[in-house]
Amino acid sequence: MAEMDGLPVNLNTDRPHPARVYDYLLGGKDNFAADREAAQRGLQANPDSRIPPRENRLFLRRAVRFLAEQGIDQFLDIGTGIPSAPNVHHVAQSVNPRARIVYVDNDPIVLTHARALLTSHPDGKTDYLDADLRDVDTILDAVKASGTLDLDRPVGLLLIAILHFVGDEHDPWTIVDRLLAALPSGSYLALSHLTGDFRPEAWAQVAEIYRKQGVTMQVRSRAGIERFFTGLELVDPGLQVVPAWRPELGEPTGEAPPEDARVSVYGGVARKP
Ligand code: SAH
Repeated sequence: MAEMDGLPVNLNTDRPHPARVYDYLLGGKDNFAADREAAQRGLQANPDSRIPPRENRLFLRRAVRFLAEQGIDQFLDIGTGIPSAPNVHHVAQSVNPRARIVYVDNDPIVLTHARALLTSHPDGKTDYLDADLRDVDTILDAVKASGTLDLDRPVGLLLIAILHFVGDEHDPWTIVDRLLAALPSGSYLALSHLTGDFRPEAWAQVAEIYRKQGVTMQVRSRAGIERFFTGLELVDPGLQVVPAWRPELGEPTGEAPPEDARVSVYGGVARKP
């Protein structure tokens, strides 16, 4: 048992957690043996397993930069993950130091790292909520109660690499609709999602490995991912395999982007009319 503010926290370190597996694949140190084993089994099924997290994280940075440059100064980031600098507030506040961010995750280990997410620029503000994406009302009530975001003004809703952890039985499309319904016109959704379109068998194996560990992971087709944007205006260049989404907003790497099948993450940004 770890401690958090003097209270014990059950980190379930004997079972892999998505946030810690992802941290391991990104080269982080906040993971345990069960996470590393799950990641290694994933790497055996698909030796390119490190590419999706890396390209996804680069997409996150470009999407947040884009939104901040559109004047968005409030962000609701659900499925934050273990902090991995630069985090959303670093990117947003580099454009506008007054930007305010509410981070949300349901993983106890992310909670233990929440302090690292609260290092806001003094002109802005960051907050952390321990909540589940499927409890939309809980999230919205807590956001309102915290007062960090003004839901009468446009918000950038970030659902980056989280929805593939919500199975169809929880109807993730309605979850996204309900969140967006609470945000005013001019708000944006930035979303990324794993797809099995390019390597269905490899991704089915990865999902099966997660399932055996008690974690739902559901990759979706392009059509299933596009459905999350119903009723919104996708900004150019639309839903893309993430390296193709506004690469000019990122730092030049000098390398050719990996091909689509090795990335297997779609991403897009859309405006609520
Ligand atoms: N958005 C970050 C991290 C992605 S990893 C990035 O793109 O880099 C996915 C995160 O979603 C993990 O931290 C996991 O704990 C969280 N998550 C998964 N299911 C969730 C749920 N139902 N509610 C809240 N968080 C969830």
